[in-house]
Amino acid sequence: MNAAEGAAAPVLVAIDGPAGSGKSSVSRAAAERLGFGILDTGAAYRALAWAGLETGTDLDDPAAVEKLLDLWEYAITLQGTQQVTVGLVGASPIDVTAVIREPGVSAQVSRVSKHPAVRDRLNAMFLEIVASSGLPGVVIEGRDITTVVAPDAPVRILMTASAEVRATRRAGELPGLTHAQVLADIQARDAKDALVVDFFTPAPGVTLVDTSDLNFEQSVQAVIDIVEAARSVSEKS
Ligand code: C5P
Repeated sequence: MNAAEGAAAPVLVAIDGPAGSGKSSVSRAAAERLGFGILDTGAAYRALAWAGLETGTDLDDPAAVEKLLDLWEYAITLQGTQQVTVGLVGASPIDVTAVIREPGVSAQVSRVSKHPAVRDRLNAMFLEIVASSGLPGVVIEGRDITTVVAPDAPVRILMTASAEVRATRRAGELPGLTHAQVLADIQARDAKDALVVDFFTPAPGVTLVDTSDLNFEQSVQAVIDIVEAARSVSEKS
């Protein structure tokens, strides 16, 4: 019997948004304060792109990327410091936590995330990871969580910020790149990702949190407030 059997399904908090909106760091801090886990779905797309580049897979060929999905063993921690590992058949798992954040990988991720069949496979994997987590709740963040992965989640949030603000935040995390380079990278990635998923417009029932004028603490509090409000509504009903 695994840890999740017999336990109630975890409460889901779905958060979507573009790169630099604060989504990842804010979701992580909010999850910690709520005693929930955090599932960063972008890490799986990044790890898949990394595995494709390592193995010389044609990332534009959906069948080739799906074949890679048959061969890999993916694992991500939901609590504490994030650790992402990928095992390719016959090899022991490799810690890819840092390498998947490198600009060389970021620039290639959209080539794997654009394939609908690949998205379906990863979405099923995300739900499996959450269901077997044994945690009381999981904040799951990405681009299509509120609309495709967990459209019935009791809390659904779209976190945005202007492109300039997002570039300023990311530039702070990527020393060596100028603000203009980071802005250009963010805009290029947004444009490619937006061809597949609309993560700028909140779907019906999704709460918009614009962090352009909020600091980190205020952004975390905004998420906690939305979760608490949803909890008090569900307790009353
Ligand atoms: O969130 P992050 O910037 O790490 O995501 C990396 C990439 O993974 C995105 O640019 C996008 O191509 C893809 N992605 C996605 N759907 C998600 C999460 C990420 O397509 N739910």
